[in-house]
Amino acid sequence: MSNPFILTPQQQIILDHLMNGVYFVDTKRDIIYGNMAAERISGFKSEEVLGKSFRDKILADTSSNGIPCRERCPLTENVNNINPTVVTASLQHKDGYCVPIQICCVPLLDGDNNVIGAAEIFERSDAQEDLNLQLKELKEIAYRDSLTKIPNRRYMEEALDEWLLVHDKKDWPFAVVMGDIDFFKDVNDKYGHDAGDLVLKKVASTLRKHLRTMDVVGRWGGEEFLILMQNIRAKQLGKKLESLRKAIEESMVEDDGVEIKVTMSFGCTVPRKGDTPLSLVGRADDFLYKSKREGRNRVSLDDMSYEGE
Ligand code: GH3
Ligand code: MG
Ligand code: MG
Repeated sequence: MSNPFILTPQQQIILDHLMNGVYFVDTKRDIIYGNMAAERISGFKSEEVLGKSFRDKILADTSSNGIPCRERCPLTENVNNINPTVVTASLQHKDGYCVPIQICCVPLLDGDNNVIGAAEIFERSDAQEDLNLQLKELKEIAYRDSLTKIPNRRYMEEALDEWLLVHDKKDWPFAVVMGDIDFFKDVNDKYGHDAGDLVLKKVASTLRKHLRTMDVVGRWGGEEFLILMQNIRAKQLGKKLESLRKAIEESMVEDDGVEIKVTMSFGCTVPRKGDTPLSLVGRADDFLYKSKREGRNRVSLDDMSYEGE
């Protein structure tokens, strides 16, 4: 193995900081240099592949289910081609699985324009997919309440902003409902925190089950739930919330053979001219506290809710 490409330390550093894998190969396609990204993508340390054939050791033809491509190597035909080419291939990772990659083969020439080797610059072609998947998972974490698995407060705040914007532009009706479990502190005190958590999960799933798919329910905090109900008329709203209240009252959580029953109070309002998300939620909260003051396990609706009846 002779190395006609002498790299300065400076060049080595730059190559090692590239996101793309780089192998320098000679005219026999034997590897004479690999950077750090090549190690990361292939799983092979540079010293394990130096002097080995790139195509036999690492590269697998996409059409051969991961078997190293040898004679059918997409790079073979490019050995004497002095123009850079891009090919899609599969790289055989050291652990045995195949990684889809895109390789740009850049022929390396001597002073007389003779091909003395090539730089194989490659990247995972599924990297973007991985990134999208990670992004989706991160969004899930950022917007979902880990206990109840329904949307969290951050999600609800953003949804409320959007719903209000659309309402202001297109006059689409919607209702904002704040629900709070009654005497929840007593549940914790009497049955323990874990039982309290079970109740929260059950309440979340009961609310979800009794709402339409177009409505959104999220955990606002502690034992408070915010519900956004789309395109619902005042008359239906009262009935719907009453059925929701009843569904919670009739649901039951069993913890270690003990039956735990809870009730919930609700406050509801609809957007008025000049409302902000804060003023809307604040008004729903006021009606919730009306329900609490008047004895709990009840629904209080803003007068505005009956507009347009
Ligand atoms: P009210 O009828 O007036 O709403 O009374 P309350 O007891 O439900 O309200 P309070 O605000 O006094 O107590 C709420 C309790 O909810 C206190 C807090 O420890 C409990 N809590 C908040 N988050 C969680 C949680 O994630 N899990 C459990 N188990 N308890 C929680
Ligand atoms: Mg409460
Ligand atoms: Mg509360």
